[in-house]
Amino acid sequence: MPRSIYACPMPRVLIAEDEPAIADAVLYALRSEGLEADHCLLGREVLPRVRAGGVDVVVLDVGLPDASGFDICRELRAVSDVPVIFLTARNDEIDRVLGLELGADDYMAKPFSPRELVARVRARLRRVPVAGVAADAWTLRGEFALDGEGHRIRFRDQLLDLTRYEYALLSALLQRPGAILTRAQLMDRGWDSDADSADRTVDTHIKTLRGKLRAAGADPDPIRTHRGLGYAIEA
Ligand code: CA
Repeated sequence: MPRSIYACPMPRVLIAEDEPAIADAVLYALRSEGLEADHCLLGREVLPRVRAGGVDVVVLDVGLPDASGFDICRELRAVSDVPVIFLTARNDEIDRVLGLELGADDYMAKPFSPRELVARVRARLRRVPVAGVAADAWTLRGEFALDGEGHRIRFRDQLLDLTRYEYALLSALLQRPGAILTRAQLMDRGWDSDADSADRTVDTHIKTLRGKLRAAGADPDPIRTHRGLGYAIEA
């Protein structure tokens, strides 16, 4: 009987990439690190393969011959939480990765180092629950670790003592490091908004949050204010 992919103990990575040189380099780097890796050329092959099971991370080229990686990612997200790392070729693609709610977990801009990609894949795999083992609830974002179910955030291994609102703001910022979130977006994530003082409310909680981060040793301040736009975090 052929060995089922489900019995395979090694994490399996699916690469959707139409440039053979890039695909070969990535496959070689992943396999030489002991990971299982499969390759497909077309976007439409991704969803059936993920649905079939046994894919632990998807590396997805944005510019595939038959479909945009963004559309593939959206379709994937409807059926699967499998981590997705985009490969992007242009700055405007990076802007879209950062700016849209695509559900991507990471991205790499071409040209990139295959070794760096392997490191990113490994980072995602650490967050994938292994069958039969309780999932580690903590998601790492730089020096922050986020436990979405427990509503807890650690900074450099210290648990931050946050109010509900401070937690909501910081977790929203950490979901998308580097992305600017407007005060309205932050309100949406944080609490039911009916006050016309929404902007000031966000600013007030950001201020207390900054105080707590400073007390935890976050220096310089990781939260950036973008005048007239909103806030972003460096993580
Ligand atoms: Ca391509």
